[in-house]
Amino acid sequence: MARPYLGDPKHTIEILKKYAFVFQKRYGQNFLIDPHVLEKIMKAAEIGKDDFVLEIGPGIGTLTQYLACAAKKVTAVEIDQALIPVLEDTLENFPNIEVIHGDILKIDLQKLVQEKNQGKPIKVVANLPYYITTPILMELLEKRIPTASMTVMVQKEVAKRMCAGPGSKEYGALSLAVQYYSKPSIAANVPPNCFMPRPKVGSAVIQLKVYEKPPVAPQDPELMFRIIRASFNQRRKTLANGLRNFAELSLRKGEIQDALEKCALPADIRGENLSLEQFVQLSDVISKVK
Ligand code: SAM
Repeated sequence: MARPYLGDPKHTIEILKKYAFVFQKRYGQNFLIDPHVLEKIMKAAEIGKDDFVLEIGPGIGTLTQYLACAAKKVTAVEIDQALIPVLEDTLENFPNIEVIHGDILKIDLQKLVQEKNQGKPIKVVANLPYYITTPILMELLEKRIPTASMTVMVQKEVAKRMCAGPGSKEYGALSLAVQYYSKPSIAANVPPNCFMPRPKVGSAVIQLKVYEKPPVAPQDPELMFRIIRASFNQRRKTLANGLRNFAELSLRKGEIQDALEKCALPADIRGENLSLEQFVQLSDVISKVK
């Protein structure tokens, strides 16, 4: 197998020129041009020779080359037709890579994992196009696509929100959803000059270690997430107001007061101060009156 060479910006520029490639803003195309960052992603992803890796958006194949050298097999899904001939060229000497031309949001991922890895947990690695960060990560987590870990480049602000705990300004529904299914940690902060073209915002590599089973067990997880959405819907309001004004819940004032009391929560508490465990307790109490 060949060695990765595209991390060097000189080679990236050569390839882009050879194919007269035009960047598509709508696909969130910011290609990595820093070998140190690529090495940091690989270190965080902990890919071994038994691993099947799904890469979302290979671009010209820079990270894909590194993944191929470490993994058993890599499947890379790329939406931009113009990149398919480029990938055929740059990945030619990496025999364990399959490129699929398609939209990751439209692919049946359960089926893909079944067909390509006999349903065993895969590892997801990507420098994600930022416009699909939340939809794709939540799809993988909520549908419980067998995944051991996800190591992905995201906007720095989004990485902070995923890792945030109660009481911080970044804490919200995304933090709780991510932390219900996985253990997140930031592996590296990445400045705009590591990409071509440079994005307007800072980025971070985040690793989500996906739990086999969530660490908490609400009686009705769907209700708990509705309560969480209600709590953060109007950030400056109290939890009680947020719950009352949320059409999806239709709770009466008295029911909310009772539930807060049963959970030993002050009447004026705000959603942003509740831990995941406290949301579990609250939703279990509310599920009894629903
Ligand atoms: N992995 C490359 C790198 O690090 O240099 C490229 C990363 S770039 C941030 C995001 C890539 O995802 C682009 O190649 C873009 O065309 C592709 N992409 C965007 N939307 C996609 C989608 N819905 N499904 C699959 N690929 C997508």
